[in-house]
Amino acid sequence: MSDKATTVHIQTYGCQMNLADSRTVETLLRNAGFHIADGIEKADVILVNTCAVRDSAEQRAFGKLNSLSRWKSEGRIIGILGCIPQELKEDLRSRMPFLDLIVGPDDYRELPRLIDERLGLASDEPAYVATRLSRSELYDEILPHVTGDVSAFVTITRGCDKFCTYCVVPFVRGRERSRPLSSITAEVEALVARGTREVMLLGQNVDAYRWESKSFADCLSAVAEVKGLERVRFLTSHPQDIHVSLFEVMAANPKICPYLHLPVQSGSNRILGLMNRGYTRERYIDIIEEARALVSGIALSTDIIVGFPSETEREFEETLELAEQIRFDSAFMFKYSVRPNTKAAKMPDDVPEPEKIRRLEKLIAQQNGISRQRNKAQIGRVDEVLIEGFSPKNNKWLFGRTPDFRPVVFSPNGEGPGQVIKLRLTELRGFTFVGEHIIK
Ligand code: SAH
Ligand code: SF4
Repeated sequence: MSDKATTVHIQTYGCQMNLADSRTVETLLRNAGFHIADGIEKADVILVNTCAVRDSAEQRAFGKLNSLSRWKSEGRIIGILGCIPQELKEDLRSRMPFLDLIVGPDDYRELPRLIDERLGLASDEPAYVATRLSRSELYDEILPHVTGDVSAFVTITRGCDKFCTYCVVPFVRGRERSRPLSSITAEVEALVARGTREVMLLGQNVDAYRWESKSFADCLSAVAEVKGLERVRFLTSHPQDIHVSLFEVMAANPKICPYLHLPVQSGSNRILGLMNRGYTRERYIDIIEEARALVSGIALSTDIIVGFPSETEREFEETLELAEQIRFDSAFMFKYSVRPNTKAAKMPDDVPEPEKIRRLEKLIAQQNGISRQRNKAQIGRVDEVLIEGFSPKNNKWLFGRTPDFRPVVFSPNGEGPGQVIKLRLTELRGFTFVGEHIIK
Protein backbone atom coordinates (compact mmCIF):
# COMPACT_ATOMS: atom_id res chain seq x y z
CA MET A 1 0.00 0.00 0.00
CA SER A 2 1.24 3.46 -0.78
CA ASP A 3 1.67 6.04 1.92
CA LYS A 4 -1.34 8.31 1.41
CA ALA A 5 0.74 11.36 2.24
CA THR A 6 3.29 10.79 -0.53
CA THR A 7 3.28 13.83 -2.81
CA VAL A 8 4.57 13.83 -6.38
CA HIS A 9 5.59 16.76 -8.56
CA ILE A 10 5.81 16.18 -12.33
CA GLN A 11 7.64 18.36 -14.87
CA THR A 12 7.20 17.80 -18.58
CA TYR A 13 9.42 18.51 -21.58
CA GLY A 14 8.92 17.70 -25.25
CA CYS A 15 5.92 17.13 -27.46
CA GLN A 16 2.16 17.03 -26.88
CA MET A 17 2.44 13.26 -26.48
CA ASN A 18 4.62 13.79 -23.41
CA LEU A 19 2.13 16.30 -22.01
CA ALA A 20 -0.64 13.72 -22.51
CA ASP A 21 1.52 10.99 -20.95
CA SER A 22 2.19 13.14 -17.88
CA ARG A 23 -1.58 13.37 -17.42
CA THR A 24 -1.76 9.58 -17.59
CA VAL A 25 1.02 9.26 -15.01
CA GLU A 26 -0.81 11.76 -12.81
CA THR A 27 -3.99 9.68 -12.99
CA LEU A 28 -2.18 6.39 -12.33
CA LEU A 29 -0.58 7.92 -9.24
CA ARG A 30 -3.78 9.55 -7.97
CA ASN A 31 -5.62 6.26 -8.40
CA ALA A 32 -2.94 4.62 -6.25
CA GLY A 33 -3.45 7.19 -3.49
CA PHE A 34 -0.62 9.64 -4.19
CA HIS A 35 -1.04 13.41 -4.06
CA ILE A 36 0.03 15.58 -6.99
CA ALA A 37 1.70 18.91 -6.20
CA ASP A 38 2.25 21.90 -8.48
CA GLY A 39 5.33 23.05 -6.57
CA ILE A 40 8.55 21.22 -5.83
CA GLU A 41 8.93 22.31 -2.20
CA LYS A 42 6.36 19.97 -0.72
CA ALA A 43 7.01 17.03 -3.03
CA ASP A 44 8.44 13.73 -1.78
CA VAL A 45 8.93 12.60 -5.36
CA ILE A 46 10.07 14.68 -8.35
CA LEU A 47 9.46 13.18 -11.80
CA VAL A 48 10.77 14.72 -15.02
CA ASN A 49 9.21 13.54 -18.29
CA THR A 50 11.81 13.97 -21.03
CA CYS A 51 12.27 14.17 -24.81
CA ALA A 52 15.06 12.56 -26.87
CA VAL A 53 14.07 13.66 -30.37
CA ARG A 54 17.03 16.01 -30.81
CA ASP A 55 20.32 16.35 -28.96
CA SER A 56 19.37 19.88 -27.85
CA ALA A 57 16.19 18.56 -26.14
CA GLU A 58 18.26 15.89 -24.44
CA GLN A 59 20.85 18.41 -23.21
CA ARG A 60 18.07 20.64 -21.83
CA ALA A 61 16.62 17.71 -19.91
CA PHE A 62 20.04 16.82 -18.48
CA GLY A 63 20.58 20.45 -17.45
CA LYS A 64 17.20 20.52 -15.74
CA LEU A 65 17.78 17.24 -13.91
CA ASN A 66 21.23 18.33 -12.76
CA SER A 67 19.75 21.51 -11.36
CA LEU A 68 17.02 19.50 -9.62
CA SER A 69 19.61 17.24 -8.01
CA ARG A 70 20.04 19.84 -5.24
CA TRP A 71 16.51 18.95 -4.09
CA LYS A 72 17.57 15.40 -3.48
CA SER A 73 17.66 14.57 0.19
CA GLU A 74 16.96 11.70 2.52
CA GLY A 75 13.33 10.78 1.98
CA ARG A 76 12.95 12.57 -1.36
CA ILE A 77 13.40 10.77 -4.65
CA ILE A 78 14.00 11.94 -8.21
CA GLY A 79 12.93 10.04 -11.31
CA ILE A 80 13.32 10.47 -15.06
CA LEU A 81 10.47 9.40 -17.37
CA GLY A 82 9.84 9.29 -21.11
CA CYS A 83 12.06 8.93 -24.13
CA ILE A 84 15.52 9.53 -22.61
CA PRO A 85 15.22 6.55 -20.20
CA GLN A 86 14.08 4.39 -23.09
CA GLU A 87 17.11 5.45 -25.12
CA LEU A 88 19.82 5.29 -22.47
CA LYS A 89 18.42 2.84 -19.86
CA GLU A 90 21.07 1.70 -17.31
CA ASP A 91 23.67 4.12 -18.75
CA LEU A 92 21.77 6.90 -16.99
CA ARG A 93 22.86 5.49 -13.62
CA SER A 94 26.45 6.55 -14.15
CA ARG A 95 25.57 9.76 -16.00
CA MET A 96 23.25 10.96 -13.24
CA PRO A 97 24.00 8.99 -10.07
CA PHE A 98 21.44 10.96 -8.05
CA LEU A 99 18.52 9.39 -9.97
CA ASP A 100 16.28 6.89 -8.15
CA LEU A 101 13.92 5.90 -10.97
CA ILE A 102 14.49 5.49 -14.72
CA VAL A 103 11.15 4.67 -16.36
CA GLY A 104 10.28 4.45 -20.08
CA PRO A 105 6.94 5.36 -21.72
CA ASP A 106 5.45 1.83 -21.65
CA ASP A 107 6.23 1.15 -17.99
CA TYR A 108 4.26 3.87 -16.20
CA ARG A 109 1.94 1.33 -14.57
CA GLU A 110 4.97 0.27 -12.51
CA LEU A 111 5.43 3.74 -11.03
CA PRO A 112 3.24 3.45 -7.89
CA ARG A 113 5.00 0.24 -6.86
CA LEU A 114 8.47 1.51 -7.75
CA ILE A 115 7.96 4.74 -5.81
CA ASP A 116 6.69 2.87 -2.75
CA GLU A 117 9.63 0.49 -2.75
CA ARG A 118 12.13 3.22 -3.39
CA LEU A 119 10.93 5.53 -0.63
CA GLY A 120 12.02 2.96 1.93
CA LEU A 121 15.60 2.71 0.60
CA ALA A 122 18.83 4.58 1.34
CA SER A 123 19.39 7.35 -1.20
CA ASP A 124 22.70 5.96 -2.55
CA GLU A 125 21.12 2.76 -3.93
CA PRO A 126 21.46 2.46 -7.74
CA ALA A 127 18.36 3.63 -9.60
CA TYR A 128 15.54 1.26 -10.52
CA VAL A 129 15.28 0.86 -14.27
CA ALA A 130 11.92 0.00 -15.93
CA THR A 131 12.20 0.30 -19.70
CA ARG A 132 10.29 -2.61 -21.16
CA LEU A 133 8.74 -1.70 -24.52
CA SER A 134 5.28 -3.10 -25.09
CA ARG A 135 3.46 -4.00 -28.29
CA SER A 136 0.10 -3.47 -26.66
CA GLU A 137 0.26 -0.88 -23.85
CA LEU A 138 -2.23 1.89 -24.59
CA TYR A 139 -3.14 3.02 -21.04
CA ASP A 140 -6.55 2.63 -22.49
CA GLU A 141 -8.73 2.67 -19.43
CA ILE A 142 -6.64 5.32 -17.63
CA LEU A 143 -8.78 8.37 -18.30
CA PRO A 144 -6.40 11.27 -17.68
CA HIS A 145 -7.27 13.28 -14.61
CA VAL A 146 -8.42 16.57 -16.08
CA THR A 147 -9.83 19.46 -14.14
CA GLY A 148 -12.03 21.05 -16.75
CA ASP A 149 -9.39 22.14 -19.30
CA VAL A 150 -11.12 23.85 -22.24
CA SER A 151 -8.80 22.06 -24.66
CA ALA A 152 -7.51 18.56 -23.89
CA PHE A 153 -5.22 16.01 -25.55
CA VAL A 154 -6.51 12.53 -26.38
CA THR A 155 -3.99 9.93 -27.49
CA ILE A 156 -5.31 7.72 -30.31
CA THR A 157 -2.15 5.88 -31.36
CA ARG A 158 1.14 5.16 -29.63
CA GLY A 159 4.52 4.34 -31.16
CA CYS A 160 5.57 4.61 -34.79
CA ASP A 161 6.51 2.11 -37.53
CA LYS A 162 7.75 4.58 -40.10
CA PHE A 163 11.48 4.46 -39.26
CA CYS A 164 12.43 7.75 -40.85
CA THR A 165 16.20 7.34 -40.89
CA TYR A 166 16.91 10.37 -38.63
CA CYS A 167 14.28 9.61 -36.00
CA VAL A 168 14.60 8.02 -32.58
CA VAL A 169 10.83 7.76 -31.97
CA PRO A 170 10.36 4.15 -33.21
CA PHE A 171 13.17 3.09 -30.85
CA VAL A 172 11.94 4.91 -27.76
CA ARG A 173 8.18 4.67 -28.27
CA GLY A 174 8.00 1.21 -29.81
CA ARG A 175 5.63 -0.30 -32.37
CA GLU A 176 2.59 1.53 -33.68
CA ARG A 177 -0.73 0.60 -32.05
CA SER A 178 -4.22 2.13 -32.19
CA ARG A 179 -6.72 2.55 -29.41
CA PRO A 180 -10.19 1.05 -29.77
CA LEU A 181 -12.53 3.67 -31.19
CA SER A 182 -15.10 3.11 -28.43
CA SER A 183 -12.57 3.94 -25.74
CA ILE A 184 -11.53 7.12 -27.55
CA THR A 185 -15.12 8.35 -27.76
CA ALA A 186 -15.71 7.31 -24.12
CA GLU A 187 -12.73 9.42 -23.06
CA VAL A 188 -13.94 12.39 -25.08
CA GLU A 189 -17.41 12.07 -23.51
CA ALA A 190 -15.85 12.01 -20.04
CA LEU A 191 -13.79 15.11 -20.84
CA VAL A 192 -16.81 16.98 -22.20
CA ALA A 193 -18.74 16.12 -19.03
CA ARG A 194 -15.95 17.84 -17.08
CA GLY A 195 -16.02 21.01 -19.17
CA THR A 196 -13.72 20.31 -22.13
CA ARG A 197 -14.87 21.93 -25.38
CA GLU A 198 -12.04 20.98 -27.72
CA VAL A 199 -9.94 17.84 -28.09
CA MET A 200 -6.68 17.39 -29.92
CA LEU A 201 -6.30 13.78 -31.12
CA LEU A 202 -2.66 12.74 -30.84
CA GLY A 203 -0.44 10.23 -32.57
CA GLN A 204 3.01 10.25 -34.20
CA ASN A 205 1.16 9.46 -37.42
CA VAL A 206 -2.60 9.74 -36.90
CA ASP A 207 -3.29 8.72 -40.51
CA ALA A 208 -2.05 5.22 -39.65
CA TYR A 209 -4.93 4.86 -37.17
CA ARG A 210 -6.73 1.55 -37.71
CA TRP A 211 -9.13 -0.16 -35.40
CA GLU A 212 -10.97 -3.15 -36.87
CA SER A 213 -12.32 -1.66 -40.11
CA LYS A 214 -12.16 1.96 -38.91
CA SER A 215 -9.77 4.48 -40.43
CA PHE A 216 -8.58 7.80 -39.06
CA ALA A 217 -11.31 9.63 -41.01
CA ASP A 218 -13.89 7.35 -39.28
CA CYS A 219 -12.31 8.11 -35.92
CA LEU A 220 -12.49 11.86 -36.55
CA SER A 221 -16.15 11.75 -37.55
CA ALA A 222 -17.04 9.60 -34.54
CA VAL A 223 -15.31 12.03 -32.15
CA ALA A 224 -16.95 15.02 -33.85
CA GLU A 225 -20.33 13.45 -33.09
CA VAL A 226 -19.78 13.59 -29.32
CA LYS A 227 -22.48 15.89 -27.94
CA GLY A 228 -21.29 19.09 -26.31
CA LEU A 229 -17.90 18.98 -28.01
CA GLU A 230 -17.22 22.17 -29.92
CA ARG A 231 -14.02 21.41 -31.82
CA VAL A 232 -11.75 18.56 -32.87
CA ARG A 233 -8.09 18.94 -33.89
CA PHE A 234 -5.44 16.34 -34.66
CA LEU A 235 -1.66 15.99 -34.77
CA THR A 236 0.49 14.73 -36.64
CA SER A 237 -0.28 13.68 -40.20
CA HIS A 238 2.09 11.81 -42.49
CA PRO A 239 2.16 12.38 -46.28
CA GLN A 240 2.65 8.67 -46.92
CA ASP A 241 -0.54 7.58 -45.14
CA ILE A 242 -2.82 10.60 -45.50
CA HIS A 243 -5.93 9.89 -47.54
CA VAL A 244 -8.30 12.18 -49.39
CA SER A 245 -11.17 10.85 -47.24
CA LEU A 246 -9.63 12.90 -44.41
CA PHE A 247 -10.22 16.14 -46.33
CA GLU A 248 -13.73 15.04 -47.28
CA VAL A 249 -14.58 14.42 -43.63
CA MET A 250 -13.00 17.76 -42.63
CA ALA A 251 -14.97 19.58 -45.30
CA ALA A 252 -18.23 17.93 -44.29
CA ASN A 253 -17.91 18.53 -40.57
CA PRO A 254 -17.70 22.07 -39.19
CA LYS A 255 -16.53 20.80 -35.80
CA ILE A 256 -13.29 19.51 -37.33
CA CYS A 257 -10.94 22.47 -37.40
CA PRO A 258 -9.48 23.49 -40.79
CA TYR A 259 -5.87 23.02 -39.76
CA LEU A 260 -3.34 20.47 -40.96
CA HIS A 261 0.14 19.82 -39.61
CA LEU A 262 1.88 17.87 -42.37
CA PRO A 263 5.65 17.59 -41.93
CA VAL A 264 7.50 17.77 -45.25
CA GLN A 265 11.06 17.59 -43.80
CA SER A 266 12.80 18.44 -47.10
CA GLY A 267 12.09 19.78 -50.57
CA SER A 268 14.66 17.52 -52.24
CA ASN A 269 13.61 14.12 -53.57
CA ARG A 270 17.09 12.69 -53.01
CA ILE A 271 17.07 13.76 -49.35
CA LEU A 272 13.47 12.56 -48.86
CA GLY A 273 14.64 9.16 -50.16
CA LEU A 274 17.61 9.10 -47.76
CA MET A 275 15.20 10.04 -44.96
CA ASN A 276 12.91 7.10 -45.90
CA ARG A 277 9.90 9.41 -45.96
CA GLY A 278 8.05 7.46 -48.66
CA TYR A 279 6.87 10.38 -50.84
CA THR A 280 8.26 12.86 -53.32
CA ARG A 281 8.13 16.63 -53.41
CA GLU A 282 5.56 16.37 -56.23
CA ARG A 283 3.29 14.05 -54.22
CA TYR A 284 3.53 16.40 -51.23
CA ILE A 285 2.45 19.36 -53.38
CA ASP A 286 -0.47 17.31 -54.75
CA ILE A 287 -1.67 16.55 -51.20
CA ILE A 288 -1.52 20.24 -50.26
CA GLU A 289 -3.46 21.17 -53.40
CA GLU A 290 -6.10 18.56 -52.56
CA ALA A 291 -6.36 19.87 -48.99
CA ARG A 292 -6.71 23.48 -50.13
CA ALA A 293 -9.27 22.56 -52.79
CA LEU A 294 -11.48 20.53 -50.45
CA VAL A 295 -11.18 22.29 -47.07
CA SER A 296 -11.86 25.98 -47.49
CA GLY A 297 -9.64 28.28 -45.44
CA ILE A 298 -7.41 25.43 -44.27
CA ALA A 299 -4.27 26.56 -42.39
CA LEU A 300 -1.11 24.56 -42.98
CA SER A 301 1.93 23.94 -40.85
CA THR A 302 4.94 21.71 -41.29
CA ASP A 303 8.24 20.45 -39.87
CA ILE A 304 11.49 20.89 -41.79
CA ILE A 305 15.00 19.57 -41.13
CA VAL A 306 18.04 21.29 -42.67
CA GLY A 307 21.57 19.90 -42.89
CA PHE A 308 20.65 16.21 -43.21
CA PRO A 309 23.78 14.14 -44.11
CA SER A 310 25.05 15.02 -47.60
CA GLU A 311 22.45 17.78 -48.18
CA THR A 312 23.95 20.14 -50.80
CA GLU A 313 23.35 23.87 -51.09
CA ARG A 314 21.17 23.22 -54.13
CA GLU A 315 19.08 20.66 -52.21
CA PHE A 316 18.66 23.13 -49.35
CA GLU A 317 17.49 25.71 -51.92
CA GLU A 318 14.90 23.20 -53.11
CA THR A 319 13.51 23.20 -49.56
CA LEU A 320 13.45 27.02 -49.55
CA GLU A 321 11.67 27.00 -52.92
CA LEU A 322 9.10 24.47 -51.76
CA ALA A 323 8.33 26.49 -48.62
CA GLU A 324 8.03 29.62 -50.78
CA GLN A 325 5.72 27.84 -53.21
CA ILE A 326 3.42 26.34 -50.57
CA ARG A 327 3.44 29.32 -48.20
CA PHE A 328 2.80 27.49 -44.94
CA ASP A 329 1.02 29.45 -42.23
CA SER A 330 3.69 28.30 -39.80
CA ALA A 331 6.58 25.86 -39.59
CA PHE A 332 8.76 24.16 -37.01
CA MET A 333 12.30 24.19 -38.34
CA PHE A 334 15.26 22.19 -37.04
CA LYS A 335 18.87 21.47 -37.87
CA TYR A 336 19.69 17.82 -38.24
CA SER A 337 20.88 16.19 -35.05
CA VAL A 338 22.46 12.71 -34.96
CA ARG A 339 20.40 10.25 -32.90
CA PRO A 340 21.94 7.00 -31.66
CA ASN A 341 20.73 3.72 -33.23
CA THR A 342 19.10 5.42 -36.22
CA LYS A 343 20.11 4.59 -39.78
CA ALA A 344 21.20 8.16 -40.45
CA ALA A 345 23.66 7.90 -37.54
CA LYS A 346 25.71 5.63 -39.83
CA MET A 347 25.85 8.34 -42.53
CA PRO A 348 28.62 10.94 -42.15
CA ASP A 349 27.19 14.03 -40.41
CA ASP A 350 29.01 16.09 -43.01
CA VAL A 351 27.20 19.42 -43.14
CA PRO A 352 29.37 21.54 -40.84
CA GLU A 353 27.61 23.04 -37.81
CA PRO A 354 28.06 26.70 -38.91
CA GLU A 355 26.55 25.75 -42.28
CA LYS A 356 23.58 24.04 -40.61
CA ILE A 357 23.03 27.19 -38.55
CA ARG A 358 23.24 29.39 -41.66
CA ARG A 359 20.69 27.23 -43.52
CA LEU A 360 18.38 27.16 -40.53
CA GLU A 361 18.52 30.91 -40.03
CA LYS A 362 17.89 31.54 -43.73
CA LEU A 363 14.86 29.22 -43.73
CA ILE A 364 13.47 30.72 -40.51
CA ALA A 365 13.85 34.26 -41.88
CA GLN A 366 12.01 33.29 -45.08
CA GLN A 367 9.25 31.44 -43.21
CA ASN A 368 8.76 34.23 -40.66
CA GLY A 369 8.22 36.63 -43.54
CA ILE A 370 5.63 34.30 -45.09
CA SER A 371 3.88 33.68 -41.75
CA ARG A 372 3.68 37.43 -41.11
CA GLN A 373 2.21 38.07 -44.56
CA ARG A 374 -0.34 35.30 -44.16
CA ASN A 375 -1.29 36.63 -40.74
CA LYS A 376 -1.59 40.21 -42.02
CA ALA A 377 -4.02 39.01 -44.66
CA GLN A 378 -6.36 37.93 -41.83
CA ILE A 379 -6.67 41.42 -40.33
CA GLY A 380 -10.28 42.61 -40.49
CA ARG A 381 -11.66 39.09 -40.59
CA VAL A 382 -14.45 38.11 -38.17
CA ASP A 383 -14.22 34.62 -36.75
CA GLU A 384 -15.28 32.39 -33.88
CA VAL A 385 -12.78 32.26 -31.03
CA LEU A 386 -12.88 29.48 -28.44
CA ILE A 387 -11.76 31.07 -25.18
CA GLU A 388 -9.14 28.88 -23.52
CA GLY A 389 -8.17 31.03 -20.52
CA PHE A 390 -6.37 34.20 -19.56
CA SER A 391 -3.67 35.79 -21.68
CA PRO A 392 -0.26 34.69 -20.35
CA LYS A 393 1.03 38.26 -20.77
CA ASN A 394 -1.93 40.23 -19.38
CA ASN A 395 -4.28 38.53 -16.94
CA LYS A 396 -7.07 41.03 -17.54
CA TRP A 397 -7.32 39.80 -21.11
CA LEU A 398 -8.58 36.48 -22.36
CA PHE A 399 -6.81 34.14 -24.77
CA GLY A 400 -8.41 31.93 -27.41
CA ARG A 401 -7.96 30.50 -30.87
CA THR A 402 -9.73 30.71 -34.20
CA PRO A 403 -10.74 27.40 -35.85
CA ASP A 404 -7.57 27.62 -37.96
CA PHE A 405 -5.49 27.80 -34.78
CA ARG A 406 -4.55 31.48 -34.80
CA PRO A 407 -3.98 32.80 -31.27
CA VAL A 408 -6.15 35.79 -30.27
CA VAL A 409 -6.13 37.96 -27.12
CA PHE A 410 -8.92 40.39 -26.25
CA SER A 411 -10.41 42.48 -23.48
CA PRO A 412 -13.44 40.57 -22.18
CA ASN A 413 -16.97 41.83 -22.04
CA GLY A 414 -18.34 39.39 -19.48
CA GLU A 415 -17.20 36.24 -21.33
CA GLY A 416 -15.15 33.44 -19.81
CA PRO A 417 -13.14 30.31 -20.69
CA GLY A 418 -15.03 27.64 -22.60
CA GLN A 419 -17.24 30.10 -24.52
CA VAL A 420 -17.09 30.65 -28.25
CA ILE A 421 -17.46 34.27 -29.34
CA LYS A 422 -17.25 36.17 -32.59
CA LEU A 423 -14.39 38.64 -32.73
CA ARG A 424 -12.87 40.87 -35.37
CA LEU A 425 -9.11 40.41 -35.75
CA THR A 426 -7.88 44.01 -35.65
CA GLU A 427 -4.16 43.98 -35.07
CA LEU A 428 -1.10 41.75 -34.75
CA ARG A 429 1.32 41.70 -31.82
CA GLY A 430 4.14 39.44 -32.97
CA PHE A 431 2.31 36.29 -34.06
CA THR A 432 -0.73 36.89 -31.80
CA PHE A 433 -3.86 38.71 -32.93
CA VAL A 434 -5.79 41.30 -30.95
CA GLY A 435 -9.54 40.73 -31.23
CA GLU A 436 -12.42 43.16 -30.77
CA HIS A 437 -16.10 42.59 -30.13
CA ILE A 438 -18.34 43.34 -33.06
CA ILE A 439 -20.53 46.35 -32.47
CA LYS A 440 -23.96 45.58 -33.81
N1 SAH B 1 5.68 12.00 -35.73
C1 SAH B 1 5.87 13.32 -36.10
C2 SAH B 1 6.82 14.08 -35.20
C3 SAH B 1 8.14 13.51 -34.95
S1 SAH B 1 9.30 14.47 -34.04
C4 SAH B 1 6.27 13.35 -37.57
O1 SAH B 1 6.47 12.35 -38.17
O2 SAH B 1 6.37 14.42 -38.11
C5 SAH B 1 8.96 16.11 -34.55
C6 SAH B 1 9.90 16.65 -35.57
O3 SAH B 1 11.21 16.67 -35.08
C7 SAH B 1 10.00 15.86 -36.86
O4 SAH B 1 8.94 16.11 -37.72
C8 SAH B 1 11.31 16.35 -37.42
O5 SAH B 1 11.16 17.49 -38.20
C9 SAH B 1 12.11 16.69 -36.17
N2 SAH B 1 13.17 15.70 -35.93
C10 SAH B 1 13.02 14.41 -35.63
N3 SAH B 1 14.24 13.82 -35.52
C11 SAH B 1 15.16 14.78 -35.76
C12 SAH B 1 16.58 14.79 -35.81
N4 SAH B 1 17.30 13.70 -35.61
N5 SAH B 1 17.19 15.97 -36.09
C13 SAH B 1 16.48 17.09 -36.31
N6 SAH B 1 15.14 17.12 -36.29
C14 SAH B 1 14.48 15.99 -36.02
FE1 SF4 C 1 9.77 9.77 -36.43
FE2 SF4 C 1 9.09 9.44 -38.97
FE3 SF4 C 1 7.70 8.20 -37.05
FE4 SF4 C 1 7.50 10.84 -37.32
S1 SF4 C 1 6.88 9.30 -38.83
S2 SF4 C 1 7.79 9.73 -35.42
S3 SF4 C 1 9.55 11.43 -37.96
S4 SF4 C 1 9.83 7.83 -37.58
